[in-house]
Amino acid sequence: MTIFSRIIAGEIPCYKVAENDKFFAFLDINPVNWGHTLIVPKKEEDYIFDISDEDLGEMMVFAKKVAKGIKKAIPCRKVGVTVLGLEVPHAHIHLVPLQKEGDMDFKVKIDNPDPEKMKKIAEEIASNIE
Ligand code: 5GP
Repeated sequence: MTIFSRIIAGEIPCYKVAENDKFFAFLDINPVNWGHTLIVPKKEEDYIFDISDEDLGEMMVFAKKVAKGIKKAIPCRKVGVTVLGLEVPHAHIHLVPLQKEGDMDFKVKIDNPDPEKMKKIAEEIASNIE
């Protein structure tokens, strides 16, 4: 079981943003910017391009919904989309609110993000998802 499956199962806490029957969205614990959100399929698959066409399409549509919520909740020009997947072997899309290109530099993380602020941001994004 991956760490993300344990989060989805509720065994490990997270700042949850949204879920449906197939996908789960929660804040990245080491955000590169405030509002940095991960989109994860509930069905474990390591590499995103091993996901079926149908599920990958649905995953992107779910990410779009969440990104719209992020854009409403957090002032930004656009929400950036990245897939890395080198650390956790459970496919995920990173969504990061962007004011400038440097806001999506994965080498620069927010130092010790305040739990209260993370909680508030997750709630704010969740309440802006249609
Ligand atoms: P990647 O696999 O895309 O290279 O990186 C994995 C991402 O997942 C990183 O941005 C990391 O901060 C995040 N991450 C790793 N473990 C956890 C966790 O237990 N909880 C949350 N919320 N995020 C995690």
